[in-house]
Amino acid sequence: MIQKTYIISSIDEIAGIAAEIHGMPVFKEASCKVLLAWSQRWNRDGFAEFRDEIVRLFPDLITIGCNHHNSDDILNGILDGPSEGDGCLLTFLLFEQSGASLYGIEPARGEEEREGCELRDLILNTENPSGVYIVPPDYYNSTEDVLKELKDITDVPVFGLKTSLHEGYSNFGYEPGREMMEGRLFALIFHGEALKIRVHYNLGWTPVGKTMTVTKEENPFFVDEIDGKAASYVYNKYLGLRNDQIIPGNLSEFPLILERDGLKMSRIGIAGPKEGQLVFGAPVHLNDKVGLSYGNPDDLFSEVVRDCNDIAEFKPEAGLLIICANRVMLLKERESEEVDIYRKQIKEAAAIYGYGEEFYINGKGGELNSALVSVAFKEVSHTDPECETYTSCGSDAKDNAVKTDDVMPLDSPIVPFPDRLSRMFKEMSKDLVKAVKEAEDANRAKSVFYSTVSHEIRTNLNTILGMNEMILKESGDDAILGYAGNIKGSGKVLQQLINDILDIGKLEAGKMEIVPVNYDVKEVMDELAAMAEYSAKEKGLELKYSVDEDLPYILQGDEKRIRQCILNLLNNAVKYTPEGEIIFKVRCSIEDEEHAILDISVKDSGIGIKPEDIEKLSIPFERVDSSKNYKVEGTGLGLNIVNNLLSLMGSKLEIRSIYGRGSRFSFAISQKIIRLTDDGERESHNAGSPEDSWGNLKTRDTSILVVDDTPMNHRIVRLFLKDSLIDIDTAQDGYTGIEMAKNKKYDIILLDHRMPDIDGLEVYKRIRADAESANSDSIFIMLTAEDGQGVRERFIEEGFADFMPKPFQPPMLEAIIRKHLPNDKIIS
Ligand code: ADP
Repeated sequence: MIQKTYIISSIDEIAGIAAEIHGMPVFKEASCKVLLAWSQRWNRDGFAEFRDEIVRLFPDLITIGCNHHNSDDILNGILDGPSEGDGCLLTFLLFEQSGASLYGIEPARGEEEREGCELRDLILNTENPSGVYIVPPDYYNSTEDVLKELKDITDVPVFGLKTSLHEGYSNFGYEPGREMMEGRLFALIFHGEALKIRVHYNLGWTPVGKTMTVTKEENPFFVDEIDGKAASYVYNKYLGLRNDQIIPGNLSEFPLILERDGLKMSRIGIAGPKEGQLVFGAPVHLNDKVGLSYGNPDDLFSEVVRDCNDIAEFKPEAGLLIICANRVMLLKERESEEVDIYRKQIKEAAAIYGYGEEFYINGKGGELNSALVSVAFKEVSHTDPECETYTSCGSDAKDNAVKTDDVMPLDSPIVPFPDRLSRMFKEMSKDLVKAVKEAEDANRAKSVFYSTVSHEIRTNLNTILGMNEMILKESGDDAILGYAGNIKGSGKVLQQLINDILDIGKLEAGKMEIVPVNYDVKEVMDELAAMAEYSAKEKGLELKYSVDEDLPYILQGDEKRIRQCILNLLNNAVKYTPEGEIIFKVRCSIEDEEHAILDISVKDSGIGIKPEDIEKLSIPFERVDSSKNYKVEGTGLGLNIVNNLLSLMGSKLEIRSIYGRGSRFSFAISQKIIRLTDDGERESHNAGSPEDSWGNLKTRDTSILVVDDTPMNHRIVRLFLKDSLIDIDTAQDGYTGIEMAKNKKYDIILLDHRMPDIDGLEVYKRIRADAESANSDSIFIMLTAEDGQGVRERFIEEGFADFMPKPFQPPMLEAIIRKHLPNDKIIS
């Protein structure tokens, strides 16, 4: 094949080129003739004239033409609109054995998926497709969604560029004998067994520093928040730019890098219309991990050299260089060097500039920024051994092929200051990234260790406390009851500590989830007040509880975590108040039609906190004023957990304190209103501690099966339900459980979730699926240590009647069994 490229400055010159092309001997024999044309800096009328002239002078060529800026425009910042002037780039591809088919897909915003499917079908219906050149219809259409539909197509590289298309500058496509088309998503599918196309993708920027997460966006081009802060903070913080300085000229050395399917892509985000917003020329999605990168001209060139080493091996006959405007901005007057490196290999290579480079192959790629996509073409005969299509993506290229010195001979012993600075900056950054990774790995290992150990302790502690409950219930010996009471007290403290450590682990790992449920807010507050009153009284303190009378009835929020926060504050107030009173206030105000703000405050007349100690309180394991409270049991974890939980729920703990006089802890939290009034529906609940009320269940003709791999759990269930007259069978593994369930009918089957051979879910499914089993329609309850979001919903969805979080205490077990037994089986 042959390529001819022309850069001209006047429309008048096109006629001369037409004569030259038509006169070429290969022209007549060509199996396919393609013209790719880009106008440069023409005004609207000029562009129309250019289009008509091209179609008139080349009626026998497949043509795609569009308007774009040239590199001078980019350097001069003329990006927003066409300017006066003229110029154009024409590249002719004359094939000897291969072909190309032009398609103009009707574009519509929001229908990129349909466009992608059309394109996919067109490629699949082409015999021996070797590559596809695409020209998107306009700047804002997200080609990424189009490209996604091509994921199952193998070894057909797609390449192209979004050039700057303005109103009245529709791209156009023409195929001999057909009507000219305008404003389409054009796809030129190259095909033929002999045609090989090699596509490379170069970046040249190196990621530096930490990665951040996109946390809020208006759409994939307008990003509002990164890491929960205004998106612009990335540039405010690291580059010291004010929002009005977030413009391409200040960012070209530092594009943001993100990774998709292992492929690094960069993105330039400039200040958007909203304060703190960033606007990108290529899509950035919610939860994308982005980080700053750094590059200087030499970095870019060294990748280009690598690329050219590969291209040299390929022995190309034609080429396209698809170049992001951002490279031009960075390379400035050296911009032509990068193109010259390629032109050593591909003499007539056409270099085009734009804003979103299209690169997609074998399910990878998308719309790029700051990249250089090189496309090399050649036609080979069937016997040629090296005729594979080949693509590589920047980092895939072989390091050992780099010969940067070829590009920039160092003729002076003094290395330029910017080069040394950049080298130092990058190497230091690499060291830091490595150190952070090592620290994170070590911290992760520590967290896993803590959580495993805590879990083990919790399970065994629960057994101890369970057994102790039996002693408390059954022993008549006062001395033994006293010992058991002490075990219970200390056990509770240990249990709280373990739960706190597990919570901290979850919070640190970002695995703590907020699970909104509907709850009766007054009931919850009354219960908390009753508990605090009990412990306050024991210490001779007075608890004053005041709650808004017109509190909404049902709110939606994470009841468990709100309880945990308030209880912590109440317990602290009791702990750190030697005498006096504690005031627990619950206020509520309506925020809008759907939300209410709960205002919670706990005030005490206790020891107080020194002003300088207040900010230390959110540090885990930090206890303050140790001389005064060394006798008070505590770990310094509670307030840290409260702070973290509140922040997950969109609130914040406020602390006011006068040392020696007392403290006030408060927070305001927005909750969804489910029902404002109870309409007389609220039942009177017993606010007494549920721990006291168990052992009363009596049943008749009831049998349950417990499938759990820990024998101690069998014992605990038996002991807890000792007086209930329930016939309890146990199985130590899933298979035995299934066998036992075959013949004997059980009212309830309790299944442990995690078991070694088959887990509880699988056991459940097998019993349910076995129509012969006596228990295919029994009631199943899952026992699990998991308590994250959706655990209950997941099991209920599977068909479980209920789930019971482990570790459980007698009252919970009894209540759940009572709930699911038919009434006629319950005596009391
Ligand atoms: P802990 O109570 O287990 O030590 P917390 O995280 O709940 O841990 O509290 C951290 C520290 O804050 C306590 O050790 C105590 O010094 C101080 N503190 C917390 N609540 C109060 C309070 N109501 N009055 C005085 N000091 C308090």
